[in-house]
Amino acid sequence: MIDIVIEGGTIVTMDDQRKIIQNGSIAIEKGTILDVGTRNEISAKYNAKQVLDANKHAVLPGLIDTHGHSGHSMMKTIAETGSGWGPMIEEVYLRGVKEEFWYIDSVLASLERIRFGVTTGATFLGGGRGAYRTDNPKFAELHMDGAKEVGIREILGLGPVGRAPYTPREFRDLDGEKEITRTVDFDGMMDTSRKIIEKYGDFNDIVTARMTVSSISPNLDSLSVEDQALVRKQAKEIRELADESGRGIMAHGGGGVIKSAKELDLLGPDVMLVHCGGLTKEDINIFAETGTHVSHCPRARAIMRRRCPVPELLDAGVNVALGTDGTAPDRTFDTFSDMRTAQTIQRHFFHDSSYMPPGKVLGMATIDAANALGIGNEIGSLEAGKRADVILLNLNKPHLTPRFMIPQRIVYEAYGHDVETSIIDGKIVMENRVIKTINEEKALDHAQRVADEVVEFNNLEKYMGIPEGFWRNSKYD
Ligand SMILES: [Zn+2]
Repeated sequence: MIDIVIEGGTIVTMDDQRKIIQNGSIAIEKGTILDVGTRNEISAKYNAKQVLDANKHAVLPGLIDTHGHSGHSMMKTIAETGSGWGPMIEEVYLRGVKEEFWYIDSVLASLERIRFGVTTGATFLGGGRGAYRTDNPKFAELHMDGAKEVGIREILGLGPVGRAPYTPREFRDLDGEKEITRTVDFDGMMDTSRKIIEKYGDFNDIVTARMTVSSISPNLDSLSVEDQALVRKQAKEIRELADESGRGIMAHGGGGVIKSAKELDLLGPDVMLVHCGGLTKEDINIFAETGTHVSHCPRARAIMRRRCPVPELLDAGVNVALGTDGTAPDRTFDTFSDMRTAQTIQRHFFHDSSYMPPGKVLGMATIDAANALGIGNEIGSLEAGKRADVILLNLNKPHLTPRFMIPQRIVYEAYGHDVETSIIDGKIVMENRVIKTINEEKALDHAQRVADEVVEFNNLEKYMGIPEGFWRNSKYD
């Protein structure tokens, strides 16, 4: 008797042949995909404790969101006009929230991701220009606790705060009897990062941690000789910790710093750079040469400023994944929206709707995303031997009927909310849109309560009103 059989769906495997099985089934045992085949093949071979009916459903590998930020689920929409967002987020994350904020943010983000069909999220511990809580390991631990309770596969990125050369930062701890303000330098932040990366090192534990810097590198030419020397010394330590862990580096990056990042040995097949707007031909060649991966977040503001040359990167042989950059100030974790936005940007740019085929885009949210995170052997496709991260998407809806041309239909017409059932590491975390792991309603109330406190404590109301020009102008600020 095996654990689960998913029976009778249209299985979009995303395996090497991109096989699609009509009326197919998947056998799951001990967290792993045991077998994938036609309904008849699987039912002849296995009896399962639980059978999930996938009739009129598409069965896909769980989506992988290669980029988001902790804290942002609680802070979304606040200061969305843009001006003042960066300093506001840094003040709040470093000095204006209690421990519980990091836990409930993680619960909220994990719930949202799962409801949108995301089974693996990669998340930076904080946001803005590097407002990462690496002053104390407890914040990362709370994030991991939240993700684990909800049951999502999570890859947490953490490292020094700010931009290189990293300087000491002031953090405030609001949890004790009285507030404590502490200054933590690069070494202190690296100590925290090392502790967490060591503690969450086992991929079997569904939550893992990786070395992360907000921005991969400064442009070395723009720095003084002293700063250059400091950047080189710090980059060496960052690279060493990444190598020790065997899990590489995640970071934001883009045109202007790629040559420097290469010089600092911060690129390679174990590195995923987020955004990558404004790349030159030379930069694209460096990505191809070094095997560095790209996380393209088409709804991110960084991409509005500078296009990520996704088709050019793909043509050069670079692996490009999708990310949400969720969720502040103005985004969701709905990766289906990113699939379409990724198409729209390039199709508008080239005035040509043959760019960004649906199949490629679906790959960027599944198998290519797994490869970008260095876990393509574990997840990203529905194949025997891989972890059982599977979603069932209900096609029996007006916007998805008639039920044919399934990969195209999913990319062009589906939304996260069409995902009905989600299995992560062989465990059913959502069934018929009911979260099975935690009490969702209680969690949402908890999040609301903490968010209200944070707004009050940090006087955020001023960022939450209706700005001049909001209703009638072509532009507002
Ligand atoms: Zn980001």
